[in-house]
Amino acid sequence: MPLRIVVGSVATVVALSLAGRRLFWLFRLIRSGQPAADRIGAAAVTTDRKGARAEVTEVIGQRKLLAWTVPGLAHAFTFWAFLVLGLTILEAYGALFKPDFGIGHWAALGFVEDVFATAVLIALVVFTVIRYRNSPGRRGRASRFYGSHTGAAWLILGMIFAVIATLLGYRGAQMNTGNFPYRPYKWSFASWLVSRALHSLGAANHGIETFFVLAQLVVVLGFLVLVAYSKHLHIVLAPFNIYFGRKPDALGPLLPMYSGDHRVDFENPLDDDNFGRGKVEDFTWKGLLDVSTCTECGRCQSACPAWNTGKVLNPKLIVTELRDHLFDKAPALLSGAETAAAMRPLVGTIEQGGVIDPEALWACTSCGACVQECPVDIEHVDHIMDMRRHQVLVESAFPAEAASMLRNLESAGNPWGMPASTRLAWAEGLSFDIRVVGRGEQIPDDVEYLFWVGCAGASDDRARKTTVAVAELLHSAGVGFAVLGPLETCTGDPARRMGNEFVYQTLAQQNVTTLQSVGARKIVASCPHCFNTIAREYPQLGGNFEVVHHTQLLASLVADGRLVATSAVDSSVTYHDPCYLGRHNKVYGEPRDVLAQVPGLTSTEMPRCRERGFCCGAGGARMWMEERTGKRINHERIDEALALDPDVVATACPYCRVMLGDAVKDRQSDGSARADVEVIDVAEVLLRSVRGPGRGASETAS
Ligand code: SF4
Ligand code: SF4
Repeated sequence: MPLRIVVGSVATVVALSLAGRRLFWLFRLIRSGQPAADRIGAAAVTTDRKGARAEVTEVIGQRKLLAWTVPGLAHAFTFWAFLVLGLTILEAYGALFKPDFGIGHWAALGFVEDVFATAVLIALVVFTVIRYRNSPGRRGRASRFYGSHTGAAWLILGMIFAVIATLLGYRGAQMNTGNFPYRPYKWSFASWLVSRALHSLGAANHGIETFFVLAQLVVVLGFLVLVAYSKHLHIVLAPFNIYFGRKPDALGPLLPMYSGDHRVDFENPLDDDNFGRGKVEDFTWKGLLDVSTCTECGRCQSACPAWNTGKVLNPKLIVTELRDHLFDKAPALLSGAETAAAMRPLVGTIEQGGVIDPEALWACTSCGACVQECPVDIEHVDHIMDMRRHQVLVESAFPAEAASMLRNLESAGNPWGMPASTRLAWAEGLSFDIRVVGRGEQIPDDVEYLFWVGCAGASDDRARKTTVAVAELLHSAGVGFAVLGPLETCTGDPARRMGNEFVYQTLAQQNVTTLQSVGARKIVASCPHCFNTIAREYPQLGGNFEVVHHTQLLASLVADGRLVATSAVDSSVTYHDPCYLGRHNKVYGEPRDVLAQVPGLTSTEMPRCRERGFCCGAGGARMWMEERTGKRINHERIDEALALDPDVVATACPYCRVMLGDAVKDRQSDGSARADVEVIDVAEVLLRSVRGPGRGASETAS
């Protein structure tokens, strides 16, 4: 048997054994996770997982990667190239047995293969420049590769180069020995150029051909082994992770609290129920697949408001630390071996040997930027919230300052502790009556919308102005609406994002019952957190309502001519996307549509807008926690807005209004912002135009 066949066969058997062993180990490890009832099961097929369609758009189409144009194109061409170049690997195997083996003899195939080989070489240059310019050594924590295994990444780039170099080497030599299957040779332009360089070596090309064919196979097989043992495991796992990803994405609602294959019933919990994730083995197999799939690309951390303002939290490191801990703990999980990793607390300080720093866990604003950016659909927010659930419900370990918020929710149904009797205070002084649906009453037929005011809209002085503006606009447009007044209680969003699922469910169930009892069908909410909770989380409790955000309703009223913005508002404005309206619920256009209808207004976008909008810092119950480390997130955001020198920073969320309002005041007091810059809601801007100068919401409210 020729030596080349022996070498090729031995290398193949060794590499497949090593890679197969690792992949089987990984399969067993991931399968050791808890059931993911929402991803596999009769209901999951059509409801909760992305399925095959995402394989086309996200895997083949590289949709999320292409959101970053230059690295996205480089990655996409490398990915597509490896699909095409799979044929050349087949050809190299064929050449072991038949030196002129080809898949047909079409010049076009040789051309296409060379086009993609060349594309990979160009992509490698792009990757090298990106990695050099963004190296942690040059940019510190501003580098998206900070904390990534950069050595392994360079090795992979070297291996990819070796794959292409050996490919062109054997094809060039084949042209000189007459074994190249695709004619005319010049169509395979890159290989032909190599053949010209090797031509002067004459008969030695036979040896060069054999060497490069074997080298090609050894490099490809080595790459396979490296993939199985490195972060490039994502090449194997990403298609599965995307297939089983949450549909349409892991934003918007949080998942119900599962233990094993059932939802936790707080009224009748089972003895062995898990409350959140307190150990790595408490994660579902989908969670374990998630963390094993991370490519360490750092796109998540580059978008994270916490990391960008100097906090400990880094979503990439959350994922990679969970993955490293999972792998360290594997002997204990798979064979019951006693390992040091098995003794580490999942959440704990460095001194405690913890895997995840509590400071990182509590720094998350649940803004969803990490989920939005992740090219392999890792569900960071779900994992962070699941770990919070365990910390709150089992360990009673959470930031002390948030305790009063939880107590207020339990005692008053309002995170600020305002009694239900004050829920209608915003309506005092209005020139028309607000209809209130009382206990035991039904919403009258001539009332089209139930206006969900929300705790901030009822309790906070600034947010009340938005509430008034929305009410005035609905009244002006002749929209029949009513409110629940004292019957309304917190939706439970702050408790749920804190991890207190028990308090959330208590409040949520109470609201669902109330809404059903008054016959609510159409609801307009002025708070994106309430909007998200009622529209997308209450269905988990059987509450199904048609919910719109006030900017959506106002945009349609303007479009229908029921609201006419007549007076000029001669101001420059920049719009801040609230995370729970934008990223979590994809409402980007309507607030901008409303602003666009206001005469005299000139709008400018901040660099980080729409899907890339930067959080105000209040979500994830951060509104009720101290921000002790780094720059304040609201300062970072307002600085971005103030750089445009606007008269108005408009938003569509009471949390954002308060956070950015506070930040602008801070900047005004340190002299870095004009005294007349305002932070107001889109509704207030519209009201100024509808009602004319001097009749804004603040005036009508006072
Ligand atoms: S949700 Fe936002 S704050 Fe939390 S880790 Fe992701 S990007 Fe960071
Ligand atoms: S979690 Fe996703 S975005 Fe973040 S580093 Fe890993 S693959 Fe990249």
